Amino acid sequence: MELTIAEIEERMLPGSFSEKGFLGIGEHLEEVIKKDTQTLELLGIGYSNLADALEAIIKAGEARPGWSIRYQHFSIKAIIYPGFQICPWADSSGNKQCTSGGVMRHASVDWTIKNHKNGMEMSGPGMIVHLIREHHFFEGEQSPYRIDPLKLAQLLDLIKVEPQQFNIRSFLKKIKNYFS
Ligand SMILES: [Zn+2]
Repeated sequence: MELTIAEIEERMLPGSFSEKGFLGIGEHLEEVIKKDTQTLELLGIGYSNLADALEAIIKAGEARPGWSIRYQHFSIKAIIYPGFQICPWADSSGNKQCTSGGVMRHASVDWTIKNHKNGMEMSGPGMIVHLIREHHFFEGEQSPYRIDPLKLAQLLDLIKVEPQQFNIRSFLKKIKNYFS
C-alpha cells in the first residue's frame, strides 16, 4: 500500500516513529525536500555522492564501535545502540523496516565525524545515509537530527572551496535570489 505524504508526515512528528521527530510541527515534507534539492543542485552534488561518502566513514567507525578511529583525514566514532530506528517510509506501521534500497544499514548507529583538514565536526544518526540516498531527505529544520546538506558537503570535502573562504550567508542569499 502506497503511503500518502500526510501519513508519512504524521509518522515524522515527535513521539511517533521517533521520540524527537523527523519533522517539527508545521513543517512539510515536500517543502523540506524541495529546499534541500535546490541546495544540492546549486552545489552540483548528488544525493548518492553525499550518502556514499558519509557511509564509507560510518562503516570504518562501525568496525570499532565506541572508539574514535581515524579514516583518511577524518575521525569517526560510531555508537551502536540496541534496537533500531524504523524509516518513516516503511510499508507497515512500525514493526518492519523500510526495504527501499535493500537491507537497511546503520539504523542502530549514532556517529560523530571530525574533518581534521578543516576542523569541522558533526554528529547524526546512521539512518541519514538511507534517508538521503533513498528518500532525498535530510530531516526537517526543527528536528535535532537534521543534517544540513551544505554543512555535510563541507564536512565530507565535497565542496572544492576552503570553508573559511566560503561565505554561507552570501551563498544562502544567492539561493534565495535564484529561486525567487
Ligand atoms: Zn526508507
